[in-house]
Amino acid sequence: MATEKMQKRPHAIMISLHYQGHITPFVNLALKLGSKGLSVTFVHNEFVHHKLSQSHKINEFNLFPEACESGLDIRYTTISDGFPVEFDRFRHEEEYMESVLRDFPARVDEFVGKMIESNPSLATFLVADTLYSWPATIAKKYNLVNVSFWTQPALVFSLNYHFELLRENGHFPCKDNMEEEINYIPGIESINTRDLMPYLKEAEMATVSPKIVINSFEGVKKADFILHNTIYELEPATLSALNKNQSNYAIGPISFSQNLGKTNPIKCLNLWSDSDCTQWLDSKPPGSVLYISFGSLVEVSKLVIQEIAHGILLSEVNFIWIVRGGMTDALPNGFEDKMKDKGLIVPWCNQMEVLSNPCIGGFLTHCGWNSIQESIWCRVPMICYPLSYDQPTNRRLVVDVWKIGIDLSDGVPINREGIAENIRKLMSASTSEGLRTEARKMRDILWNAIENGGSSDINFDQFIKDLKAKLHAMD
Ligand code: UDP
Repeated sequence: MATEKMQKRPHAIMISLHYQGHITPFVNLALKLGSKGLSVTFVHNEFVHHKLSQSHKINEFNLFPEACESGLDIRYTTISDGFPVEFDRFRHEEEYMESVLRDFPARVDEFVGKMIESNPSLATFLVADTLYSWPATIAKKYNLVNVSFWTQPALVFSLNYHFELLRENGHFPCKDNMEEEINYIPGIESINTRDLMPYLKEAEMATVSPKIVINSFEGVKKADFILHNTIYELEPATLSALNKNQSNYAIGPISFSQNLGKTNPIKCLNLWSDSDCTQWLDSKPPGSVLYISFGSLVEVSKLVIQEIAHGILLSEVNFIWIVRGGMTDALPNGFEDKMKDKGLIVPWCNQMEVLSNPCIGGFLTHCGWNSIQESIWCRVPMICYPLSYDQPTNRRLVVDVWKIGIDLSDGVPINREGIAENIRKLMSASTSEGLRTEARKMRDILWNAIENGGSSDINFDQFIKDLKAKLHAMD
């Protein structure tokens, strides 16, 4: 009997959130688990599947055809969130996320129940986004090992994890204009309240974001294992402190570990179709183009778009700007005529392809965690304009801790002259030498971490070992 139990193959049910910044690391984690010989059922929200089919113009869309051809056992399926696929979840964020909190757990419950019933020969475990509220309950109900995957820096995780401590000290909810140093969180030497995630400043429960964080971070304390898409060497104190409470593993940057040649990278990952910018990029001198993107989610106000547009023209640098659908109306009148061949505006691109083009000399970013990792991977220094979620806290790491970026507006309300000056500072070789040196060092840290014997590689193998032992013990 014992032999039979030991032969049960570990099988992950992976459920990602529907945001691009979560989907990308989740899909890459699935590949990584598959490449280690584990079975995976990867579950996308039905509407994500619909969007992917549309943007890649594929009827019978499958996320993992190449992986399956190369022998990995990664199955792909979908789950409904109860809304029609056409419903614009990003425009109705509050309403939608309220429903995800309230109604989605029952759907996951039914789904997981059926999955387990139909795969009795597998040792099933759960891998869910840390921001979901239901994993602890579902894992308990079906006696599953509960693996939580955190797709942002450990610093942000730790601040969320210690929300009770923040509350006791009057920093959650934190008054918007308060400027105080927080130095009581284990593993975080000091952080100013101005660098906290904006949702910690909202009146508790006033909007859906603090509700999500409270629910999910109460739940994550019951997880068996927590995977972080970060690198130990970048956040050693924070990760070591977290490890005192639970088993945390820094396994990032997960999206690049495939680049080391173990499996094919995934092709159809993005929710929107790319514009091919190669010809335009190839016509520009090395290091001369500023890449501008505010990621997949946040809305940028018309005023900010206009000031940035004027600032870029004043700076006279070449630029490629991702202006997502609808936001082009916010550009100043006649902007595209004035920019002439110095600029290219597209609604979506293959960001990694753009960042790795030699003509790119800097990245004006909202500081999404994937964008930061991709910029480091391509050794491109950043100019930061964080807007929401984890971005202001990530900015602190980029500018104040790692010194691979500068601020767009130096704490004052943004204005075109200041923007132009900072862009010139970033793009000119003489004033950005220090940033570029640090960016190169950081890239080496990322590369070394995921190579054979690097910290993330070792941590991943340790996680698999600990997971198998736990699955065996629970069987
Ligand atoms: N991205 C892309 N093309 C674009 C804009 C963004 O491929 O035109 C990708 C980018 O490479 C990154 C993701 O979208 O992997 C955005 O994630 P991030 O964490 O940076 O920001 P979020 O969208 O979650 O705010």
